[in-house]
Amino acid sequence: MRGAVLGLLLLGSASSAEPYHLIPGRVPLDWQGPDGNTVVLDAPKGLIVVDTGRSPMHAQAILDYARQRGRPVAAIVNSHWHLDHTTGNADIRAAYPKAEVYASTAIEGALVGFLGKGRAQADKMLADPKTPEGAKAQMLRGRDRIDHPDKLRPTRPVVKPGRMTIAGRPLDVHLAKFAATEGDVWLYDPKTRTAIVGDLVVGILPFMDTACAEGWSKALDEVAALPFTTLIPGHGDPMTRADFLTWQKAYNAFVDCGHSSADKKQCVNGWARDAAKFIDAEHAGYARAAAEYYLDTRLRSSPEEQQKYCKPLTAS
Ligand SMILES: [Zn+2]
Repeated sequence: MRGAVLGLLLLGSASSAEPYHLIPGRVPLDWQGPDGNTVVLDAPKGLIVVDTGRSPMHAQAILDYARQRGRPVAAIVNSHWHLDHTTGNADIRAAYPKAEVYASTAIEGALVGFLGKGRAQADKMLADPKTPEGAKAQMLRGRDRIDHPDKLRPTRPVVKPGRMTIAGRPLDVHLAKFAATEGDVWLYDPKTRTAIVGDLVVGILPFMDTACAEGWSKALDEVAALPFTTLIPGHGDPMTRADFLTWQKAYNAFVDCGHSSADKKQCVNGWARDAAKFIDAEHAGYARAAAEYYLDTRLRSSPEEQQKYCKPLTAS
């Protein structure tokens, strides 16, 4: 009996019986920066890889999985352009040059603003002898992508939501405009009732660097409207529907608090309390510090700054 169970477990690791395969992205608290979660789906023409991480180790884990499965990567879907979700695109496509990249066109606005600024900052840190060698390697990797934006751009731009056939597999592709970024792509698979939502949901706290708080809230309403039973966030563990609803409530309460005249500490404490289920001990201090940072830089910034990511970045 035990042998049979073990056999099943071993088989299970290499078969496509699971509705999705998660390669968890780490959120280290040092210079490494986070890797987004990767979700791999089976499709008739090969594997669909949703988000490709930042670090070389994460990209390697995706390639190792494809090799273990003996199937090519036929398509990449990027939930959004943040480099912790897209840097690995180039590594995957070096091994599988035919893989199509499905993503929104928000990268174009990012290149003129956020990523351009990020590159200048990286240059400063690269010139600083105090910057650790590992951090320099990571920065050079990111800079290479910014300098060669075709390594980030979609080959199949997602410009509207709808049913799409990706690598031969039909999926509901959603496009949330002006949410975590100017265009967040998220997937819903009605067959397995799985939602793959990128950084529209991040357990420890919403990464609001390029956020339009109101658009994001609307996107969460759209997610809630679907009958999913499992939701894979951009970072952190898969969620049940009840988990998601708890997180959504915490998000809306944090944004409301940010826009009120409540003491900043009250908003930070509110987030730590409402989202406690999703914040492990290691990240508790980080979640509080980051909540305070997003209050300062987004929710309580000038009206212009708050609206900055609520309109097209390339139109000006
Ligand atoms: Zn992310």
